Amino acid sequence: MIEDEMFDLVRQHKDGILQSSVRKTLEIDSKKCSRTIAKLMKNHLIRREPELANGRNTFRLYCMEFTGPSDKHKYFLAGGVFSPCTGCSIECYPENCRLLDEWVWAIIKEEN
Ligand code: SF4
Repeated sequence: MIEDEMFDLVRQHKDGILQSSVRKTLEIDSKKCSRTIAKLMKNHLIRREPELANGRNTFRLYCMEFTGPSDKHKYFLAGGVFSPCTGCSIECYPENCRLLDEWVWAIIKEEN
């Protein structure tokens, strides 16, 4: 099935793949490519971001599957734990926050 082939292709490219490359690799026309992308996006399997490539507006497709933290996420991880401030809804007093203290100590331990 073309959806499965496209999803596998996008998944193989952790840094994303241009829509035009997907179309060429799968040897499908642009109409079928767009329809298949729309189906995968509707099912939250891929996402796309606009990009200028070779002077033309196109899209880069990314897999929505979680493949582990990337390099940019490592700054939010300490001892394998994500920053406690992310999504926190506790009334905030950072200078007295045990969660933040423990997380900062984990960073200090990792650096030593
Ligand atoms: S410092 Fe503590 S209370 Fe404030 S956002 Fe971070 S985890 Fe939440």
